Amino acid sequence: MKALLERNKRVQIEALKGLIKASGVLGLDPARYENALKAVTPRQTAKKVSEKGTKSSTKPSASVERRPPASKVSKRAKLLKSKVEKGRLVLQFDRRVERGSIKHFILERKGRILYVFDFKNAAIPFSIKRYRGESFKEIRIAQFDPKRVRVVIETLKAYKPKLTTADKTVTVTLPGYSKKVKGGGAKKASSKSPSTAAVQAAYGASFGKNSYTVVIDPGHGGKDAGAIGYKKRREKDAVLAVAKRLKRVLEKRGFRVYLTRSRDVFVPLKKRTKFANRKNADFFISIHANAAPKGGSRYKSKGIETYFLSWSRSGRAKRVAELENRADFSNKNFYTKNTYLNSLNREKIIESNKLAIDLQRQILASLKKKYRGVVENGVRDGPFWVLVGAQMPAVLIEIGYITHPTEGPRLFNPNYQNLLAEGIANGIESYIYHSR
Ligand SMILES: [Zn+2]
Repeated sequence: MKALLERNKRVQIEALKGLIKASGVLGLDPARYENALKAVTPRQTAKKVSEKGTKSSTKPSASVERRPPASKVSKRAKLLKSKVEKGRLVLQFDRRVERGSIKHFILERKGRILYVFDFKNAAIPFSIKRYRGESFKEIRIAQFDPKRVRVVIETLKAYKPKLTTADKTVTVTLPGYSKKVKGGGAKKASSKSPSTAAVQAAYGASFGKNSYTVVIDPGHGGKDAGAIGYKKRREKDAVLAVAKRLKRVLEKRGFRVYLTRSRDVFVPLKKRTKFANRKNADFFISIHANAAPKGGSRYKSKGIETYFLSWSRSGRAKRVAELENRADFSNKNFYTKNTYLNSLNREKIIESNKLAIDLQRQILASLKKKYRGVVENGVRDGPFWVLVGAQMPAVLIEIGYITHPTEGPRLFNPNYQNLLAEGIANGIESYIYHSR
């Protein structure tokens, strides 16, 4: 048990260290992750020790240092920069990309033509990036699976894309590309490594909020009531109300929003992330309410926590995950070890962790404006089935304890629900702002 706890702690600390490192590379401010790391390390140790009543002698920093260096783990070509320039899409990687590692095929769907380029053994440091243009409908760059980056150029008319590789730079011509400007840019780009400022500029080249899609997933529904709380009120009703308010708030701010359910119906867990993938969502936000186990302290537990997916088996994450997973055993075979592992790529974990940090912070700030006694339970990771398979940053928010005599009724209070929705929306915007 102690070994498992130590492992979980390592995963969390490692993820935060990764964030700090990534912040440096991307020219972002790492302060908030450094603070989070500082905050998480001693507090978590203290908590686990008191929970288990045993003494831990392992220093967290020592555990981290024992891990293999990052260079040994990853041999993937990282995409450093992408831009649409002079009728071409220019992709710059951190190492040489062989022509043979790129697979190209064309899909036709309902009048849309998708030119797909799969880069084997490649990674991107963001979840998805889109470009819109006049000569094409959309370009999407995303981590297709842990080892593949997929670039999709969507057009309404057929054309013949030309793919060129020159050392670390890959260029794909777009519809309407004119031969007059051939050459130049790609060679120039590959001749020197991009400065931090240049990388940042490339990341900032994405679009306004209205190009972001959020899938909100109100937990449970129909035959699955979720947790039954104080005065027999049901989790499925509270989370649906919050989800609907969140949808309105996000739409007002220019987001495209979908709900996995907008009524009191049962939706299998597997279908929820599938829906988000199909909608090409940039964010998957699952909303739940926590419940304390029956017993002496049932009416004492309260607070808000945000989870992202991991193999974590820490006592607390396991208990909450079991509660949330219980709803749906209809697709048990789907959740095989392989599916789980495939959906757990490092980049997605880091992005989900970042999103969870921003959400948790903003939710707390929003609620504390009007309510007293709001408890911060922090960002945690756990094995939540509903997050498995999501191809975008995905988190599960426990908006409070439905079993608590004060917090439970609050979850049904429209004012409290609005503040929750505002906080979640602020968290998403904060994440977008910080990842530019
Ligand atoms: Zn739930």
